[in-house]
Amino acid sequence: MSFYKENGIYKSSLLDGVHHGFSSRHGGISTLPHTSSLNLAYGRGDDAEIVKRNTDIFARAVCGFENAGQKVISVPQVHGCEVRYVDESDCGIGVYSDAVFSCDGYITNKKYVPIMVKIADCVPILLWDGENIISAVHAGWRGTVKNIVGEAVLKMQSLGADVKNIKAAVGACIHKCCYEVGLDLYETAESLRGDEFCRRYITYNEQGKLFCDLPGMNRELLLCAGIDDANIDICPHCTACEPEEFFSHRATNGIRGTMGAMICLC
Ligand SMILES: [Zn+2]
Repeated sequence: MSFYKENGIYKSSLLDGVHHGFSSRHGGISTLPHTSSLNLAYGRGDDAEIVKRNTDIFARAVCGFENAGQKVISVPQVHGCEVRYVDESDCGIGVYSDAVFSCDGYITNKKYVPIMVKIADCVPILLWDGENIISAVHAGWRGTVKNIVGEAVLKMQSLGADVKNIKAAVGACIHKCCYEVGLDLYETAESLRGDEFCRRYITYNEQGKLFCDLPGMNRELLLCAGIDDANIDICPHCTACEPEEFFSHRATNGIRGTMGAMICLC
């Protein structure tokens, strides 16, 4: 398995049988220097109409049907671990209609229900059981150590997915090279995941600074949830290393647009 780029969108060969994609910062119509050009979130400086049109562009490219943008579900994220079941009745929530709930993950077994998480350094994870169950997860460090990805796998199994068939694609995010963290993060992570887990992924460099490996943590949590190693694909790109290609919160001190990771059965 591996990541590749098609029409400006990053995809994993593991998920080739399902409509999915991870955006870069390119291909949209935002013109502000910090949101140019495919900003997919409100509240970053773009007019709402621009965000809607960018969502239309990305959703159409990922899903391949005409009004995909109007159906996208993407609500405010709260660094929690709720993975919410959604269906047709939720379509449009958070983009074309008001966000009546907030959460960091979605799961569905319905067609034409595009689900999208938003990221700019945090970890986006798209999951598919090889048949008709999909999930999208946003995992910052808080969601990661709360094991939102394990929660997604459990929810997929409760809908009938066979864990041996679940494939997980981890999109571009901030990697250990750039993710310097404080002791407070270590302490919170340790309280939830234990010292041994944290020692594997939060380590000091030669200068005595602490760095955290979010994709590594999520890989281990996926393995613990029962996913085969061969069914986990991690995008090698670090968002903070490549601010010309990706929106990065760290690399820009928070002055940035937002990318999306979307998956849809259709
Ligand atoms: Zn980096």
